[in-house]
Amino acid sequence: MLDNPAALAAKPPHPSALLEQLVEQRTAELSQALAAVEAQKQELESALRQKEEVQSQLKDELKDAQLLHNISAMLVDENSVGELYQKLVDAATLVMRSDFGSMQRFDEETGKLQLIAHRGLDQPAVEFWQWVHAGRATTCGKALQLGQRVVVPDFEVCEFIEGSADLIAFQQAGVRSAQSTPLLTRNGRLVGMITTHWTRVCQPRERDLQLLDIIARQAADLIERNASAEALRLQSQRLIEADRYKDEFLATLAHELRNPLAPIQNGLALLKIGKSEQVPRVLPMMERQLGHMVRLIDDLLDVSRVSRGMITLKRDRVTLKTIVDSAVETSRPMINAAQHKFTVTIPGDNVWLHVDLTRVAQIISNLLNNAAKYTPSGGEIELVAEVTGSTVLVKVSDTGIGIAQTMLPKIFELFTQVDGTAENAQGGLGVGLALAKRLAEMHDGSIEVTSPGDKGGSVFTLSLPVDHAVALDRNPDQHPASHPVGNALRVLIIDDNVDAAETLALVLGVLGHTTSVVVDARKALAAALEFEPDVVFLDLGMPHLNGFDLARQMRGEAALNRTYLAALSGWGSEDDRARSLEAGVDRHLTKPVKLNEVEEMLAQLVQRR
Ligand code: ADP
Repeated sequence: MLDNPAALAAKPPHPSALLEQLVEQRTAELSQALAAVEAQKQELESALRQKEEVQSQLKDELKDAQLLHNISAMLVDENSVGELYQKLVDAATLVMRSDFGSMQRFDEETGKLQLIAHRGLDQPAVEFWQWVHAGRATTCGKALQLGQRVVVPDFEVCEFIEGSADLIAFQQAGVRSAQSTPLLTRNGRLVGMITTHWTRVCQPRERDLQLLDIIARQAADLIERNASAEALRLQSQRLIEADRYKDEFLATLAHELRNPLAPIQNGLALLKIGKSEQVPRVLPMMERQLGHMVRLIDDLLDVSRVSRGMITLKRDRVTLKTIVDSAVETSRPMINAAQHKFTVTIPGDNVWLHVDLTRVAQIISNLLNNAAKYTPSGGEIELVAEVTGSTVLVKVSDTGIGIAQTMLPKIFELFTQVDGTAENAQGGLGVGLALAKRLAEMHDGSIEVTSPGDKGGSVFTLSLPVDHAVALDRNPDQHPASHPVGNALRVLIIDDNVDAAETLALVLGVLGHTTSVVVDARKALAAALEFEPDVVFLDLGMPHLNGFDLARQMRGEAALNRTYLAALSGWGSEDDRARSLEAGVDRHLTKPVKLNEVEEMLAQLVQRR
């Protein structure tokens, strides 16, 4: 052992020290282990906490999903749109845990929001916020102005609401805070607003707002879908109405055309059995009835031509007086027949218009005829014309049956007749006012009507622009003079309708002219060359050879180059007239031609000779 001095020097440790050392070491190890366990425990605790959080989040999300699912389910289930709106408002209040809720639709015409459903608002509040415009002191007014969501957590400290009438209304309704979310369609168009209100100060949670956005999308879809459904509904309603009008119209047409036929038929029977003492009574009656029928058919044809843009105005400078005189002349028999008191007041002679005399007189006489028709006999009819600025106003008022407020905007529509007036009507097709309105518009004018309703009479006002281009001292326009026929003319009548041809010949014979009749168009040219007529009345629609071709043949004959060609046709459109002129016809007359028109034409020809 002596050969190891170090071993000799080191004293072996005392056993208690050894033990101490060991204990220390173990303690350190133990505390390390404890710390590790503590760390693990904390880790575990945090993991547990995280798990709980995730679990609760999942629970929340599940709840949200469930809520949305329920909303979708009830939207699918419900049929009434009103109920759907209501359910969406309910869903929004639920999601936002709010006390009130409302939904508005955006009205494009007015640019305002209209309340369509709400929850919890009282009647005064509903009325107060029925319509809201952009920028009004409410969250929805502001959101409409900005085009985005507006949240006001406390109305008492909000700059744009402060001091407003809306704030007072909010206080009265017990509302302290609100949010409004615009309802946008998938392509970003604003269709409405969804709002939730609280009775307390409230700043909504982001998560709730996200859910609200989902509801808002559904609401926007619904409003959009409903708008197209509504448009379709309106259109089909209009079609049904138009169809009804058409049926009514056809029934009325048959009735109205048959009405004058009966007296005409009776009159003819009387004439046939030769009761000559009846002639003075029967003839005017037949004439009146025929005139009525012609007027109906003319109105119908006119309205169809106007609708197809086929009427061109023959504008001329005429005085207001000429127009009114002409209208009054047409309507006076009807006004007198009903024994109405009739007064006309017009300003002096020097009010000039640049219009189609016939058409404007037609408008005014239509108004006068209606006044006479829809006023019980012995009433009062007044025509007052006045100039205000650059407009002439012609007012026709009556003391008649009046027109209900609901019908006022409709009576200018084609085929509209106010129900229940049938017993007052003396015939009509519901065409006159539609025609009058269109003719007035063609003259850059308008017609308006006012009436207090039941038995209160009516006032129709025609407005037309004054023609300032005419000097005020210009001579009043000349009335077409009706000249008596002095000299006899040679008149050839070509018409395959034997009755029409012969009656015309008869009338012209009575007027002192020499007549000849041809009923076969193929023989007409030879007859004309032989007869050498001054005037030919030529029917256009004839078998074998039509009037246009016959006119061309006649124009090819030198012997007939001084002969005046007058076409007689059932058609009088611009097209028909143009075709006649092109075939060499001098004048196009529409059947049934009026005797004074023929007389006037023949008188002019006599003067020209
Ligand atoms: P019609 O007289 O042929 O029925 P209108 O187009 O001229 O057709 O008029 C349409 C409807 O308007 C009439 O059926 C009538 O009900 C109403 N109406 C027109 N004028 C008057 C009036 N002066 N007073 C009361 N009702 C009127």
